[in-house]
Amino acid sequence: MSGKVLIVEDEPKLAKVLADYLKASGFEPVLLANGSEVVPWVREHRPDIILLDLMLPGRDGMDICKDIRTFSRIPIIIVTAKVEEIDRLLGLELGADDYICKPFSPREVVARVKAVLRRTRDGQTMQARGLVLDENRYKATLNNRDLELTAVEFQLLHFLAGNPGRIYGRQQLMDKIYRDERTVSDRTIDSHIKKLRRKIEAIDSEAMLIHSVYGVGYKFEPEQ
Ligand code: CA
Repeated sequence: MSGKVLIVEDEPKLAKVLADYLKASGFEPVLLANGSEVVPWVREHRPDIILLDLMLPGRDGMDICKDIRTFSRIPIIIVTAKVEEIDRLLGLELGADDYICKPFSPREVVARVKAVLRRTRDGQTMQARGLVLDENRYKATLNNRDLELTAVEFQLLHFLAGNPGRIYGRQQLMDKIYRDERTVSDRTIDSHIKKLRRKIEAIDSEAMLIHSVYGVGYKFEPEQ
């Protein structure tokens, strides 16, 4: 297995041991020790997975985790010094993918990194007729060209493509896309779909991916 692993750890010896083990297993580790550097670095470099210590100089790990979740689904493994804290952390719904307690064996960390990557990679990219959707990066490509979708357009396309052939009404789509109780009209979905189709057609005019079903809603069907 390979991938860029960001290790956020302010104990240099521990960070180095982790980096050595990860490198030996084929990963490409990067080290950051100051909490305040993490979010800007992640935004720019998009690692495949993050090992995040909680007690950090500069910025608290919990805060970092919540912040990253506002713009990315990159897998995050939180490292904490207290086993009792894990229950509390779970309750906080930080959006982390796994938790590891110190002290740990580096071998165990490598195993967890692999397990989380395997689990998240499964649902992460979806492919259909030249379309590739990368859920961690909210990135969509068609015939290897970037579709440049907004977050809402990506979510719509990802949801429809995940359930090919199934017809969804506008209300169902709205419920899927807008988790909060925001009031959006049916037209909003229509307008997102319209823009989505336009972007798809701009790359491949033959690619009929999203179909309207008169009076009902929409469905994703690559081959018709
Ligand atoms: Ca620490």
